Amino acid sequence: MSIIQEIRCSNCAAPISFKPGEIIATCQYCGFTCVIETGKAFTLEHSMILNEYTSDQAEELIRNWMRSGFLKPGDLAKSSKILEKNLVYLPFWVVPVTATSRYKGVFERVTPAVVKEDTIEKEYSWLVLARKAAIFPAREYDVPLEGKVPYDFRKIEEFAKTLNSEVARDEAVRLARQQIESHHQFLAKQEVDKIIEMKSDFAVGDAVYLHAPIWFVAYEYKGERHNIILDGATGTVIKGDIPATRFGIL
Ligand SMILES: [Zn+2]
Repeated sequence: MSIIQEIRCSNCAAPISFKPGEIIATCQYCGFTCVIETGKAFTLEHSMILNEYTSDQAEELIRNWMRSGFLKPGDLAKSSKILEKNLVYLPFWVVPVTATSRYKGVFERVTPAVVKEDTIEKEYSWLVLARKAAIFPAREYDVPLEGKVPYDFRKIEEFAKTLNSEVARDEAVRLARQQIESHHQFLAKQEVDKIIEMKSDFAVGDAVYLHAPIWFVAYEYKGERHNIILDGATGTVIKGDIPATRFGIL
């Protein structure tokens, strides 16, 4: 069980509740966002992406997904029962980074092996999930940043849940650098078989705190529970469990 604590909103005096580990909280009465430790206003940009679907429409998108594509049981849409549909505004940090990685590696697929040197330079709006538990596949989510608007609590549906950030800005920047570095290692390994050295430089811009609408759906098919994660801005299924189709071998 998690203990819920409270501070007073310094904008409207309403109680702002938060859980242990949360760092940034948003008042659900006036939308004021503050740093829990100090109670002071959060001064960086706080944005949101709007949800475009009602609960019924989200279900329709799920049924369409069930009906389409290969590897799904033919009766999936017809025989599945939706158990839960929750709209959650998940907190993210969007970190603008220009990353330059110089590397040296060995290309072993030729004889004799050759040493190659190259540079990877890329610009990113790197997305870091601001929650510690791995509840969401951030790398598989192509955040629709073009739809970003200033955070407005009046645009949050009453039935939706908004999660606070458990990750401070500096931590998000550190994670972004780390994740980009391993992404560049992955890219370099397409060119060479072994990396001898890699040095990366990062130019980091102003990070944006962002709430994005994600539908968490659970459904039942033939007695088993499965999950689907749907992007509330674009209606795309970000990740969906497909029940294993059993072949009649045994
Ligand atoms: Zn308030």
